[in-house]
Amino acid sequence: MAPLPKRKLSKRRGRVRFNGQRNGLMVATQTVVCPSCKKVTPAHRACRYCGFYKGKKV
Ligand SMILES: [Zn+2]
Repeated sequence: MAPLPKRKLSKRRGRVRFNGQRNGLMVATQTVVCPSCKKVTPAHRACRYCGFYKGKKV
């Protein structure tokens, strides 16, 4: 399953992001495997699938 953004980016934000990727300035988001549901989720954030972060439901 491909990760999808929660919200559609506005025109301006979308363009900024796109240019960043084109120039190779985008830093890949660090990811970790969720200890609760074993899915890959962004690091230092609540799991996007089960909502757990550091053993707690957020
Ligand atoms: Zn999870």
